[in-house]
Amino acid sequence: MIPADVENDLVRLLLTEEQIRGRIAEMCREIERDYAGEDLLLVGVLRGAVMVMADLARELTLPIEMDWMAVSSYGSGTKSSGVVRILKDLDSDLHDRHVLIVEDIIDSGLTLSWLLDNLRSRGPASVEVAALLRKPDAMKMRVDPRYIGFDIPNEFVVGYGLDYAERYRNLRGVGVLAPHVYSTPSQ
Ligand code: 5GP
Ligand code: MG
Ligand code: MG
Repeated sequence: MIPADVENDLVRLLLTEEQIRGRIAEMCREIERDYAGEDLLLVGVLRGAVMVMADLARELTLPIEMDWMAVSSYGSGTKSSGVVRILKDLDSDLHDRHVLIVEDIIDSGLTLSWLLDNLRSRGPASVEVAALLRKPDAMKMRVDPRYIGFDIPNEFVVGYGLDYAERYRNLRGVGVLAPHVYSTPSQ
């Protein structure tokens, strides 16, 4: 289940590939109901949302477009600061579009709350959020995502797009990273 080369780096597996696939399918049925008859623009937040975007987009039976944004929320290691900078902006004009932000995880909510304000200022018809994971204990900003995959405990997780120092994004499931990995000086 956990690839042998990273087995020692994880405390435990939190979500299997199958659990994620099943939940994404359920989220897609909700999204299809809510956006029936509309054109939808999925906005993925690089790089963590790459996997959830790929699976969500292929599971949806609606006409969709995909666009990408890269933001950095200053801060290092395992915490974000809420000071956000755009590294790559969207190519699409959001005017009168139905926009669905696709996110990997909502931790403090700082990044997402900044992103919502930013995209809403561009004149879209609507902006909603689909996030695979949410850590309710850690929320510092009130954000109201319309679609949530799983609420998870307040632990640092990796896999399915989520990294630590750019590693582990390619794990098929989501696991809790062992503290010994991020407490080593070399990171
Ligand atoms: P927030 O601004 O909500 O605190 O965090 C936003 C970003 O921090 C996420 O998009 C993600 O890139 C990163 N992040 C937050 N929690 C985790 C976590 O448990 N694991 C990993 N790998 N990244 C996280
Ligand atoms: Mg993210
Ligand atoms: Mg990261």
